Amino acid sequence: MKAVTFESVGKMRVGIVADPKPAPGEALVKVLASGICGTDKHIFSGAYAARYPLIPGHEFAGTVVEVGPGVTAVKTGDLVSADPNITCGRCPYCRRNKAHLCLNLEALGVTRSGGFAEYSVVPATHAYVLPPGVTAEEGALIEPLACALRGIQMGNVRPGDTVMILGGGTMGGLLMQLSRQAGAVRILVAEPLAVRRQTLDRLGADRTFDPRETPSEAAMKAVDPEGADVVFEAAGRPDTAQQALTLARKGGTVVLFGCVEPKHNITLNPALVNDKELTICGSFNNPCTHAPAVALVASHRVDLKPFASHRFKLDEFEKAFDYFGAPDSYKLMILPHEA
Ligand SMILES: [Zn+2]
Ligand SMILES: [Zn+2]
Repeated sequence: MKAVTFESVGKMRVGIVADPKPAPGEALVKVLASGICGTDKHIFSGAYAARYPLIPGHEFAGTVVEVGPGVTAVKTGDLVSADPNITCGRCPYCRRNKAHLCLNLEALGVTRSGGFAEYSVVPATHAYVLPPGVTAEEGALIEPLACALRGIQMGNVRPGDTVMILGGGTMGGLLMQLSRQAGAVRILVAEPLAVRRQTLDRLGADRTFDPRETPSEAAMKAVDPEGADVVFEAAGRPDTAQQALTLARKGGTVVLFGCVEPKHNITLNPALVNDKELTICGSFNNPCTHAPAVALVASHRVDLKPFASHRFKLDEFEKAFDYFGAPDSYKLMILPHEA
């Protein structure tokens, strides 16, 4: 079959590899859509630990074409979304109901073959059947949505809350919709790109603004001088991570959701955290949120369609990889079976 292979850090190849076969408990999935993520960029640059040579791609969906012995959860013909994270079940975190922090975490597209290929092997336990009406591209966005659900859990967004989101990319857009579902009544999104602001306005943000024209502090004050109940840093930048600390109200929560490069530090004023009784937390991966993410999409309460902005064939992977992060783009989809 044809696949993308990261041979080592900084070295990729698109070409023929051995056809995968499903082992007991596994399903062979014909990959129909596979989204490019910032993590793929970090794996390629060596900033994110992975096992090479690697077929990357951890956000994908497709049709089951073969099942290994003992598989009953999925069958040939099912359209499924893959939950890429495979936990060990025996480390201290797995045994304390925090499996997403597993010490022996394996992941499709990170330590095992993933979805930038014509076919991928997925443990049947990690294949989620998509209900009728949900497309493969939406299925490929279930993993990011599941991560955003974790962010909402960590932020503990409640009915009546005011939420500030710094960064209106795919993750900011998903956090915005989920905040609305959780009952937030005032949702502000800071996003420099006009096209993204328009999308988020359409999807129900209460106020989007360009932080280069209106500083986030001023936009926040205009809505509520006390600040937000929950602030999400979703731009993955040290300056917005720093700023997030000042935008939360007393008793508020700051979720450092975006992936800021590890080399950056920010300054923390302990007195401010103490006086305001702030909660500052991270949000990692997506523990048990894949199933609710599927349900949300199937119920049309969350709209994923606008976030699949561009489509590329497998042969065009390098072009797509270079295009990642372009101002007019959200998620770039690789469609391995497009002729
Ligand atoms: Zn990802
Ligand atoms: Zn574990």
